[in-house]
Amino acid sequence: MTAALFTWIFLAVLALNVGLKYWLASRQVHYVLQRSDAVPEQFADQVSLEAHRKAASYTVAKQRLAMIETGLSTVLLLLLTLCGGLQLLCDALGAWLGHGLLFQLALAASVVLIVSLVDLPIEWHRQFRVEQAFGFNRMTPALFLADTVKSIALSVAIGLPLLALILTLMQVAGPYWWMYGWLVWCGFTLLLTVLFPIVIAPLFNRFTPLADSELLQRIQALLGRTGFHTSGVYTMDGSRRSAHGNAYFTGLGSAKRIVFFDTLLERLQPPEIEAVLAHELGHFRLRHVRKRLLLGFAASFLVLFALSWLMQRAWFYQGLGVQPLLQARNDGVAVVLFVLVMPVFTFLLAPLASLLSRRHEFAADEFAARHASPGALIAALIKLYKDNATTLTPDPIHSTFYNSHPPASIRIERLLRLQAPATVS
Ligand SMILES: [Zn+2]
Repeated sequence: MTAALFTWIFLAVLALNVGLKYWLASRQVHYVLQRSDAVPEQFADQVSLEAHRKAASYTVAKQRLAMIETGLSTVLLLLLTLCGGLQLLCDALGAWLGHGLLFQLALAASVVLIVSLVDLPIEWHRQFRVEQAFGFNRMTPALFLADTVKSIALSVAIGLPLLALILTLMQVAGPYWWMYGWLVWCGFTLLLTVLFPIVIAPLFNRFTPLADSELLQRIQALLGRTGFHTSGVYTMDGSRRSAHGNAYFTGLGSAKRIVFFDTLLERLQPPEIEAVLAHELGHFRLRHVRKRLLLGFAASFLVLFALSWLMQRAWFYQGLGVQPLLQARNDGVAVVLFVLVMPVFTFLLAPLASLLSRRHEFAADEFAARHASPGALIAALIKLYKDNATTLTPDPIHSTFYNSHPPASIRIERLLRLQAPATVS
């Protein structure tokens, strides 16, 4: 492999990515707009034409923003790599700090800072233009800024020590550093999964044990039926930021938690909440959480191996616009280049992740239908689709590529079949 050849491969795959993203986005826009004048028959009783049109405009607005985001991030990637941005940063930081660990950490931190700064106006626009226009934004600019500062502080506090550890391993652990690095990564992921609900999430939201006793009784009966032990059922003040409603499962082992957004509890009836919870319990009972964690471990094993192999090839650096150092270690530069460029090469795997996720969703729906009322789950889903302005008519190809959840119509059709009593022939 020569540097020039690698440059061309990179450019070709990048062009394929961008072309595919624009094609999928424009398919989605056309598909949704063409169907925006009539509510699908399946939903005609529950969803008004007005709500259906709102979902269409919301979907289109989000797609347009995603297109702008794709354009900007592509330009930034090219500026940093082939146009010499990263080389410039390396030269400047190297002249100032030398080429030790501090230099490598500073390089990574500067690139993260640049990428975040470019992303900031887009996030602002998403929150205060798009979400605002459709009545979903509940954030004040002050809260937006506080969130941003907290997130940066968290990434510095967690990310920099982890990176320092990995870079040190690269330097001292020999050719198999990546195996040790992988063990560190797995341990870190497990720790974060356990700590997230108890330490990190409370930095952003308030969690209160569910107080509604009637609902709590229903929930405890369901937990008993499904043989489930958890340290708690909580309500989260999601309404501080957004009107979107949701429910999720978090934590691992005895630190598991069930979290309902207050916005969801406001709108769903107790049997519907029970059905949504049964779906979430399905994810845990069917070991989806564990499977995903293990799959993540397997993927990071391959990723770290790829990094360890690529960082020893001069064409990897030169092909992406950086001259490797001859007198010092290139670990930091390699990590930064790799993290910037890897998504370009893995984007085509997105449908695989979506496929796996959709299979889990169907399985969790089936679990919910067995342990709670399928009719209540259908009612809850329709309310959630309507209230969140999620389109009921997504483009099938766009959905296959991106969506972690199956389209509403297919999910509900399956649930209706589960609801129908078995016929004896
Ligand atoms: Zn689910």
